[in-house]
Amino acid sequence: MEQTFIMIKPDGVQRGLIGDIISRFEKKGYYLKGMKFMNVDKSFAQQHYADLSAQPFFAKLVDYIISGPVVAMVWEGKDVVLTGRRIIGATRPWEAAPGTIRGDHAVEVSRNVIHGSDSVENGKKEIALWFPGGLAEWKSNLHPWIYEN
Ligand code: UDP
Ligand code: MG
Repeated sequence: MEQTFIMIKPDGVQRGLIGDIISRFEKKGYYLKGMKFMNVDKSFAQQHYADLSAQPFFAKLVDYIISGPVVAMVWEGKDVVLTGRRIIGATRPWEAAPGTIRGDHAVEVSRNVIHGSDSVENGKKEIALWFPGGLAEWKSNLHPWIYEN
């Protein structure tokens, strides 16, 4: 099954949104395969966002990500990359639909609470970067109640 990398950004942690965010993925029927509460340093944040290094907001973005602890997670499930992005909502919170995480909890693009991988391939890269030691192995006993196969 597909996996995605999800990170609750420092504003999400400070604002007490960890439980709400985890709950949305859990209740949907996705499986938590890795989770770390951690601070990241500048070079690590630059590596995570390397694709955006030419953007004018890059330096501010890196400062934002290193401004406090983050929750790094791996979630697994059918179509979890795309559906995870839909649960998160549009990058710019004013374009994010109500009911999405950013639609419900964010105002500014530079304070948009959460990161989610944008493709299966980038998800694999991000998981390797953030979880070099591998992931937890488990299968939910509820699996047949959520998935047909
Ligand atoms: N960002 C920003 N200003 C912008 C666009 C993006 O500060 O004009 C930040 C924002 O926090 C966003 C992150 O850069 O989540 C990564 O941008 P991306 O386009 O990858 O959006 P995402 O995949 O997070 O929706
Ligand atoms: Mg992105």
